[in-house]
Amino acid sequence: MRTLRSTLAALTALGLCAHASLAWAEDAQDRAPKAGVTACIQPLGKYSKKLLKASARGVTYLYGFEVRVLRARPMPKEVYYPKRKRWRADRILDWLDAEIYPGSECTMVLAFTSHDISTTTDEKEDWGILGLAQVGGRVGVVSTYRTRRGLKRPHTRLRRTVKVFNHEVGHILGIPHVPGDACLMSSAEGSVLTTDLQTGLLCAPTKTWMEENLSATLPDLAAFDWSRVE
Ligand SMILES: [Zn+2]
Repeated sequence: MRTLRSTLAALTALGLCAHASLAWAEDAQDRAPKAGVTACIQPLGKYSKKLLKASARGVTYLYGFEVRVLRARPMPKEVYYPKRKRWRADRILDWLDAEIYPGSECTMVLAFTSHDISTTTDEKEDWGILGLAQVGGRVGVVSTYRTRRGLKRPHTRLRRTVKVFNHEVGHILGIPHVPGDACLMSSAEGSVLTTDLQTGLLCAPTKTWMEENLSATLPDLAAFDWSRVE
């Protein structure tokens, strides 16, 4: 059975339009983690160690958070969707929330996988996505499966992955989608190609909101220095 949280999260998947309301953001303020954040990464099924390491570095670079990588685990059988031969992201969130987060001493847990993941949207029963996270919650999932599309340069896939990962961390910290194309918290609008338009940085109002809620100062970055994560 789906939890209320994961139902909310399903509506704000990267790759979907923003359905987050102001009320969610206000509610999220009460639940957003404070300073001293530990972001844990749960490798799940097949995954790229190189992309995982880049994502871990990316979180520390952008947010200044400590990152811990948990013991790799197989995909839980109950999240498989045989009709499309892929894995349900909303069920992965429920599984993380029930099985991995408790006792982990993590502020948040994000699964990392190269398997194809999907969720339900207003129009589609099963729609492939890049990532999904609870807004103002504690768990998320990122898949690198769709980051291969239209690659022209070797570093593009890594940069897309880092952006998607930090985007999902932003959702967990309580940030819904923001207007425009360039911000980290812009919606991918259903395509990984839109992430190529993003700078990789939080736009100023989002960063200010987050710092107030975390009671902490995030790293001051004028431009994303990709040599720090590649
Ligand atoms: Zn999103």
